[in-house]
Amino acid sequence: MIIKKDKDVIKNYFEDNSGIVGAYADFVAIAENENDVCEFLSEMSKSSIPVTIVGKLTGNTASGLAFGGSILSLEGLNKISEIEKIEKENIQTENAYISVQVGARVDDIKLKVAKEGWMYPPDPTEKNASIGGNISTNASGARGFKFGATRNYVQALKVVFSDGSYSFIERGKYFADENGSITFDTNQGKRYITLPRYHLPKIKNAAGYHNYPGADLIDIFIGSEGTICVILEAVLKLIPHFKSIFGGIIFFQDRKDAYEFVDKVKNLSKDTQKRKLKNSISAMSLEYFDKNALLLMENDYPVIPKNVEVGIMFEQDVYENNRDILTEKWIEVIEDSDINLENVWAASNVAELEQFRIFRHKIPERVNEMIKKNKIPKLGTDFAVPEGKLLEIIDYCDKKFKAIDVFNLTFGHIGENHLHANILAANIEEYNKCKQIYVDIVEKVVEIGGTVSAEHGIGKARHIFLEKMFGEEGFQEMAKFKKSFDKSCILGQDNIFPKKYL
Ligand SMILES: Cc1cc2nc3c(=O)[nH]c(=O)nc-3n(C[C@H](O)[C@H](O)[C@H](O)COP(=O)(O)OP(=O)(O)OC[C@H]3O[C@@H](n4cnc5c(N)ncnc54)[C@H](O)[C@@H]3O)c2cc1C
Repeated sequence: MIIKKDKDVIKNYFEDNSGIVGAYADFVAIAENENDVCEFLSEMSKSSIPVTIVGKLTGNTASGLAFGGSILSLEGLNKISEIEKIEKENIQTENAYISVQVGARVDDIKLKVAKEGWMYPPDPTEKNASIGGNISTNASGARGFKFGATRNYVQALKVVFSDGSYSFIERGKYFADENGSITFDTNQGKRYITLPRYHLPKIKNAAGYHNYPGADLIDIFIGSEGTICVILEAVLKLIPHFKSIFGGIIFFQDRKDAYEFVDKVKNLSKDTQKRKLKNSISAMSLEYFDKNALLLMENDYPVIPKNVEVGIMFEQDVYENNRDILTEKWIEVIEDSDINLENVWAASNVAELEQFRIFRHKIPERVNEMIKKNKIPKLGTDFAVPEGKLLEIIDYCDKKFKAIDVFNLTFGHIGENHLHANILAANIEEYNKCKQIYVDIVEKVVEIGGTVSAEHGIGKARHIFLEKMFGEEGFQEMAKFKKSFDKSCILGQDNIFPKKYL
């Protein structure tokens, strides 16, 4: 274990993308091997020293920021193994898996498997995040519309608990019984835990510990934001890589036309998936950029026409020799929607689509730069709402934004009814005014059955919003649940729920 105490060195671990300032720790422990982690945790437990686990600190919610105690960095545990293929009896390859240590960069994993014809589908926009961070926040991205979140591709995990014991959890091995209790094996014997009793909305969600009747234990660790275990290794499920890809960003002068187009593509894509059709539209992503998000990018991207209200991005992946047929189908749906092809920024291959990713990445990046410059915490929503409720919440946000004169912009995963509305306060007075707007939006989201976080998690920055979903009773349940894994309560203090509940 490498221990760093020099203030000038460890200050690099005191900042993530939440804009929250004031993080501090006594020292940073950088694990050189897995055994280091077990020994370190056992020692910290005995001395009751808080441990904040960090990946690459690209998180948006301060969940990787320490406020006292120690920081455990897993940056050195970054091995990516060879792909393991599971072959069918008739010798056709059906599935492939890859084992990784948690410090590995997600993008390095994606690039490695792509070279061998496989795809690790989750694609959060931030390329530098670690796979440990992605698993601990159940990250997702634009392609979540077709593939879902990180959870869907985690097949097994090696986890270490705060007493230094560890366990290898495979998907499909340990399930909750009718009372919500799960018994599982560790290297130091059996452990028992009981799931919290609150219910999660049945939509894309990254708010609170995951649970559902008959839950698979592995799902509990995914999205647990560094509060119940240190994840050391993961076995990830891969799928065959697409043969080719194309896509476009369509610019709309009228918002209504954009929403109608999205609805049409969503319905077609769902039908294609349900009926396993080969030659029909099945969008891989469906993304939304509002007028102000486009305005922010206008100088860098002359391709954006003047006076547009909305941009909708789509990607179509192609697995068979039917690219021409699929292209025709997209042109048909675009023309049927009376869209002028001059208002489409088209991409016909991976390299051109990479420009879309850069474009998408630049928006939150610009937002983060502005936030850092103003030294004001980030006010960005991460809500998702049930099918059929999106326009209601967009209208609600619009009304709220009109009532204040503060720059705001919205972008996100419209295919999953999941949007990031950002309010960019210039000073603390504006921030306080905007905070109330944010709370109002959160209350509306909860009222219509949505979630306050669909992909970034809660961290330390969003307790008050999570409380709107689960109330104080929910926090008490979560604290009890955490303690059943982390008796000494040293891991990720103040993440997900306030530490006063411990
Ligand atoms: C420009 C930009 C774009 C982004 N786009 C997306 C996006 O599209 N989708 C998305 O979901 N997120 C996005 N994010 C947020 C961020 O990249 C994700 O939350 C990511 O999962 C964080 O990974 P990390 O390695 O940086 O983790 P950190 O920020 O270091 O940590 C995040 C959390 O994970 C815990 N953790 C990390 N490693 C472990 C481990 N091994 N064991 C247990 N706990 C651990 C930490 O304690 C903390 O609670 C974006 C961020 C930026 C800056």
